[in-house]
Amino acid sequence: MVQTVDGRIIFSNLFCGRGAQAMAKKGRIEVFEQFCKSCGLCVAACPVKVLRISEKTNAKGYRPVEQFKEGCVGCGMCAMTCPDAAIEVFKIEE
Ligand code: SF4
Ligand code: SF4
Repeated sequence: MVQTVDGRIIFSNLFCGRGAQAMAKKGRIEVFEQFCKSCGLCVAACPVKVLRISEKTNAKGYRPVEQFKEGCVGCGMCAMTCPDAAIEVFKIEE
């Protein structure tokens, strides 16, 4: 099952009864490149270091973040850290 987890509501998921178990699941992200300002906060926040600033440029002249390798655990830290709501996290429950 794939569950959409918006960064603004993820706390309600983490504090539910299965929170600790959910943290160990896989996840994936979607980056809304037009909102990214290349601040790098999400890169620093990611516990498994799967994010980096890309080489491409968005319409505002910023280099949007990208996931460059597998390993996202769906923790939501990137989405919660981003001041511009440029990342959406999807938890994949197997
Ligand atoms: S959801 Fe967590 S593991 Fe996945 S990219 Fe964001 S910070 Fe990294
Ligand atoms: S925290 Fe948001 S604005 Fe900053 S690099 Fe990450 S996605 Fe872009």
